[in-house]
Amino acid sequence: MKPKALLILSLLMMLTPSFLYWIGPLRRPAMADGDQLTLMACPVCSGSGQSQNQKCPRCRGKKQIQFMVPGPHRPTYVEGHVYAPDGVTVVPQASLQFHCEAGDWKHTTDEQGRFGADLPPGKYPLEIQSVQGKLSTVIEVMPQTTPTPVDLDPRFPTRVDTYILQK
Ligand SMILES: [Zn+2]
Repeated sequence: MKPKALLILSLLMMLTPSFLYWIGPLRRPAMADGDQLTLMACPVCSGSGQSQNQKCPRCRGKKQIQFMVPGPHRPTYVEGHVYAPDGVTVVPQASLQFHCEAGDWKHTTDEQGRFGADLPPGKYPLEIQSVQGKLSTVIEVMPQTTPTPVDLDPRFPTRVDTYILQK
């Protein structure tokens, strides 16, 4: 096989769930104040430790896996994509401002018209200004309630918001 094909194959392998299961115990989950780690029944084998007459690959027969139980402050990573009034053109260097517990947050969009922040649950009035237009809106982040397996996604959850400026 050519080296390039090997590289692509290895990249594909890294994306498979089994690789994620394998690397799971090595990954450290992102924790916020109030978040808790707890053992819960494995979702693949429903806590039996067996899957298709074999040792369950997810929990390795241990019947339980570690879950993140989100606390009231667990943030969501909000990624904002800012567009001009035409709804298509991205807006780099738009200035943003919102108020949060840590104080006023000021930022500018990057070359793709994007910005991002880890936001705990709450409402954040947001002002966006640029030469193409402006927008006053509110970023609302709801508390998370669903426990998630730590081995699959130990990071803060991500969401993408689209903002279309007005003239
Ligand atoms: Zn299992």
